[in-house]
Amino acid sequence: MITLKDNFGRTFPYIRMSITDVCNFKCGYCLPNGYQVDKSDNRKFLHLDEIKRLAKCFSELGVNKIRITGGEPTVRKDFFDIIKVLKFESGIQNVVITTNGYKLDKKAELLINSGLTGINISVDSLNRETFKNITGHDRLPEILQGIKNLQNLGFENIKINAVLLNRVNSSIKDFNNWAEYIEKNKVDFRYIELMRTGDNLDYFKKYHVSSQIFKEYLNKNNWIYQTFGKDSGPSLNYINPKFKGKFGIIAPYSKDFCKSCNRLRITSRGDLRLCLFGNTGINLRHLLKSNDQLNELKDLIMKQMQFKKESHYLELGDTGSTKNLSKTGG
Ligand code: SAM
Ligand code: SF4
Repeated sequence: MITLKDNFGRTFPYIRMSITDVCNFKCGYCLPNGYQVDKSDNRKFLHLDEIKRLAKCFSELGVNKIRITGGEPTVRKDFFDIIKVLKFESGIQNVVITTNGYKLDKKAELLINSGLTGINISVDSLNRETFKNITGHDRLPEILQGIKNLQNLGFENIKINAVLLNRVNSSIKDFNNWAEYIEKNKVDFRYIELMRTGDNLDYFKKYHVSSQIFKEYLNKNNWIYQTFGKDSGPSLNYINPKFKGKFGIIAPYSKDFCKSCNRLRITSRGDLRLCLFGNTGINLRHLLKSNDQLNELKDLIMKQMQFKKESHYLELGDTGSTKNLSKTGG
């Protein structure tokens, strides 16, 4: 069995694939003015056939999980077809998405029927007004209803992510609100530390806060740090027997963050990115035209692995080619 491996002994059973740069939200840290069409760039996003070929190739390279992201992946008209093809025709076992939860209340059943095995929903606050201020949309109720609908249909693998923003959603009251939520709901909730990108320098300066404040809250409230599973990736997870759900922290600036890196990325235009923040990577599209190119594609991807760097060097202020995360698929 082939496994994708880099020079630092890390293996890559997991791919994050962006299927569009387009988004219908305006999150302050990502696309504060909403998605802007780049007229100089007429390349189209990966189409269904190309996505299927890529997934098949990765499956033959030992990948067992693909996360579909964006932009907002659910804005694509063929979104459900993509999920179905990945799940039932590519050989990949785990097909998960990251979504802003737009109209999730209406989509819950369709998502489950398309074969999805997990969902990460971005919910930056449980306070409706704060949610609206961060994302530019007053859609918190439909998203929470969507989560309920998924649960009522028996769907279990639900994670919620919030970007931790200083003095916006980082108070003890905010933490307590989430604790109350996961006390009753079997959902993993994780705070992601705000990352600096090419576009958000001022925002970053104003709102970045270390996730240490949340760690201290967890320690004070008897949450127990859960040691890493082999393929668990860079999230630090905490459990408490009184709660149905778990807490987690994703802290990209922490010292050992990259040590547990287990993922590669594909941009919506078919670039292989070895790191969310790297300039390293190449376009694969010329090898996605027909099924006959599968072996050539596999060779190219395997050869690229030697260029994966040990760290993202974010702590040195290096954001690589990442203007915002909607472009590389956060
Ligand atoms: N639109 C979908 C969503 O928001 O879930 C998927 C794409 S979004 C780029 C993926 C994740 O990246 C979201 O959880 C979002 O909050 C996070 N994100 C975006 N920009 C970020 C930044 N500068 N720092 C930390 N997380 C960020
Ligand atoms: Fe859109 Fe997701 Fe970026 Fe928010 S974080 S603007 S929902 S791509």
